[in-house]
Amino acid sequence: PVDVTIENVVKAFDDTPALHGVSLDVKAGELVALLGPSGSGKTTLLRILAGLDAPTAGRVLFGGEDALGLAVQDRNIGFVFQHYALFRHMTVFDNIAFGLTVRPRAQRPSKADIRRRVLGLIDLVQLNGLDKRYPTQLSGGQRQRVALARALAIEPRVLLLDEPFGALDAQVRKDLRRWLREIHDRTGHTTFFVTHDQEEALELADRVVVMSKGRIEQVGSADDIYDSPASPFVFGFIGESSLLPVTVADGAAVLDGVPTGLSAPGAAAGPATLGFRPHDVVLVEDDGPALRGRIIAERRHGARRRLELEVGREHHRAEIDVEVGAPRPEGGRIAFRPERWRIFPPR
Ligand code: ADP
Ligand code: MG
Repeated sequence: PVDVTIENVVKAFDDTPALHGVSLDVKAGELVALLGPSGSGKTTLLRILAGLDAPTAGRVLFGGEDALGLAVQDRNIGFVFQHYALFRHMTVFDNIAFGLTVRPRAQRPSKADIRRRVLGLIDLVQLNGLDKRYPTQLSGGQRQRVALARALAIEPRVLLLDEPFGALDAQVRKDLRRWLREIHDRTGHTTFFVTHDQEEALELADRVVVMSKGRIEQVGSADDIYDSPASPFVFGFIGESSLLPVTVADGAAVLDGVPTGLSAPGAAAGPATLGFRPHDVVLVEDDGPALRGRIIAERRHGARRRLELEVGREHHRAEIDVEVGAPRPEGGRIAFRPERWRIFPPR
């Protein structure tokens, strides 16, 4: 495994940029998750690392060495995609051996060595006894395990996994997540794991790279990302949130000119975003520090009831959860206060 350095990588398709200058340092043997919604640039970044696409600008280094000059086959990358079909006419054994058997003769291991390595991988991915099966005789989860074994067979310097479990059902995904982490701890490949599933990313990765619209929003451990979100986007993507545009004046948030009494310690005066989680809200009397809103819709939300509110003079939207059976005042006007909140500065 090698260190990977990504420096200011830009990718423009026609006129629309898919990556706006992405920089990231990944240590040898680290497992990072690239987490973001569809269209945020995850696959584009992975394809650039693989050599399937060239960046418009920027540098990629593997172990300190320029990787962009290397052709795909010389980068020594293992990859698994969501629908990276196995060769249907080949057995499990031959699929896994493929990357070794196509090597130029001088670099090709002997038949006996290939056999030893493939059987070792079959053992690693727990498919013992299935080496003579064909892909159609396997479950979806088993096929992705074959795909991973095939990627590992070439002893890659970097492993790229693009939503490898995306097509599988929830329980299989969970099992494979744990399984992949164990395999990683044993083999220690530098690994990029792409997912749009925050639970998957937070559980699996050493570090999570949150992406949105072709930019990195935050890089950190699961705890960093959850407890100290760097932006309203991260806050909203990692859990449910309500976000309101406020101004900070005298150390507190003001919504549409009305002081809320919610403190903003350390925040600079001026525009900002107030964020809170719907389940952190309590209803309060209408005199102290509070936000005020009008109920426009409500529905059952697990053990509680979710109110959709219009808040502030400009009628922003917010969602709060209240006890089932909490009072619904005449006219639907209520005052509420989050028990925890965050103030995000503008970008
Ligand atoms: P993700 O994998 O996070 O869903 P992608 O990297 O696939 O996102 O896409 C990022 C952006 O780049 C999207 O807006 C997508 O439409 C665009 N894009 C990706 N590939 C191409 C392409 N070959 N040609 C034009 N636009 C592309
Ligand atoms: Mg993608």
